[in-house]
Order: sequence, then structure tokens, then C-alpha cells
Amino acid sequence: MSFSNQVKEELAREISDKACCRRAELAALVHVNGRIIKTDAERLKLVVQAEQAGTARKIYTLIKSLYGLQTTVQAEPRRRFKKTRIYEVHAIISNRDADLWQRLQDLNAASKKGRRLGADLIRRNCCKRSYLRGIFLSRGFINRPEGEYHLEIILQELSLVKEIQRLLSKFNLSSRMVERKLNLVLYIKEGEQIVDFLRVVGAHKALLDFENVRILKSMRNSINRQVNCETANLAKIVDASVRQIQLINRLVELKGWEFLPAHLRDLARVRIEYPDKSLKELGDLLDPPLSKSGVAYRMRKLEQLAEDIIEISLR
Ligand SMILES: [Zn+2]
Repeated sequence: MSFSNQVKEELAREISDKACCRRAELAALVHVNGRIIKTDAERLKLVVQAEQAGTARKIYTLIKSLYGLQTTVQAEPRRRFKKTRIYEVHAIISNRDADLWQRLQDLNAASKKGRRLGADLIRRNCCKRSYLRGIFLSRGFINRPEGEYHLEIILQELSLVKEIQRLLSKFNLSSRMVERKLNLVLYIKEGEQIVDFLRVVGAHKALLDFENVRILKSMRNSINRQVNCETANLAKIVDASVRQIQLINRLVELKGWEFLPAHLRDLARVRIEYPDKSLKELGDLLDPPLSKSGVAYRMRKLEQLAEDIIEISLR
């Protein structure tokens, strides 16, 4: 199952105890995937589409628990060019219940007419979260954390995009928008922000999975950096060591070990014996031990002496 569907399954199971939140979430689901149709003179029908069975079940539960309407869930047969099955939730509204009809109509029309969402619908923080959860269930997509960090919400109306960006910003989430074909796509690319989004909408299990992968990824990066750094250091030590050993060998060839003063001779010997050791490590091998800067100073002297002798021998 895709990570997106995993997140949605988790969110679909989450039914709030509070009526205010259930209303806000249903509003989101109706805004983007719902319509009201007239069936006959007496009755109207609210139809809400869902891509997952879990989401359809949730819509059914929300409508039943909030309005007690006669509701059914139908699975549309697979359409020819679409792999996904579409579920539809149908709720019958009696025309006599004009007040409810008006309220649902308002829910449905708010985004389409560019009106602001009903202020009291999402006044509380709990309801803002629920509304965002409904939006994600209807139009959200999230990449699995092993890949590129990416979360998006696909919408059509600019007014709704603006509303949702405003809602997200209340939770310190910043999103960007891009046009894709006929759609407006809101997206978040930062791992940290995606984690925050999952927290806001209450996808706690998905959040843990996402965080685990994120930690593994960042550990792997830091180990790679460290290994690269150590490799680079070692390469530097070896390069210097090879040059020093060549100089020493040439010098000894020309002048013999006895030519060297004792303190330089000791250093030259450990250098040849331990070609992969750093200057600091060579210092520890000397008797008496010598600091890194002391070794560096003597090594410069040794190299200088060797270069001078070699140069003279070449004249
Ligand atoms: Zn609430």
C-alpha cells in the first residue's frame, strides 16, 4: 500500500468525539468532493465521493451521527481508464428540512463562490485540525519518507487554496502553490514541516514511521560525511608521507644515516616505519614523545635538509 493510502486509512479511522470537529471535517469532505442534486420535487440528495473505502465509511458515519439522514455507500465499478475505484456516499434530504438543506448547500457552495469558510465552522483549533484532515483525506498526497519529502493537496478553486494556506499558517506551516494542468497544487517540501502537518491532522502512527525514516536518513548522511572526511584526511597524510619517505630515502642514499643529527634521525626512522601515521601519532612514537607542533617543526627541518642535499648532488 502506498504511504499516502496508509496515512489516509489512519485518518479515516479517527472519528472525533466532538460534534464541532465532525462538522468541520464533513464540511471539508463536502467542499471538495460533494454535490447536492435534486432527485424529485420532494427530495434532494447529497452525494460525496471518496477514493478509499475507509474515507467513504467515515463520511457515512459523520452524516449519520450529525444529521441522522438516510445514507448509503456505493462503490462505482472500475472505470475503463482509471485504476482506482470510486466510492459514493448518498444521503437523502427531505425538502421539508429546509434549514438542513440550506446548511449543506452553504457548506457546498462556500468554496465555489469564493466565499470565506463559515467562521464559526472552523473557529476553534480542534475544528481547524479536523477541517485540514478532511481536506487531506479528499485531496491529499504524501510521498513515502524514503524518497523525496513531498506532501501536496490538489484543489481547483483559488479561494479555497488561499483559505487552506491561511489555515496551515495558523499552525506555522508554510505551503507553496503551483499550477498543474487545470489544478492548483499546494505543496510542502520540508521534512520537518511534513511531520508537523501529520501531527496537526492527527496521523500519529504515520508520523512515527515518517520520523524513523527521517532519523535513519540523517544518520546515514552524517556517517557518509564522516567517512568522506576521514578518507580525505588519510589521503592527505599518505600523500605527505610518501613525499617525506622519498626525501629521506634519497638523503640516506646520498649521505648515510650517520649524517643526520640524532633528533632528525629518530623522526626519519619512525616516518619510514609508519607511513600511514599522522604527525601527532609519530610524536607519540618518539622517545621522549614530542608534540604535534614539535614533530611538524622537525619534519620541516628534515625535508629542508634533504632538499638542500639533493639539490647540491644534482649540480
Ligand atoms: Zn472542534
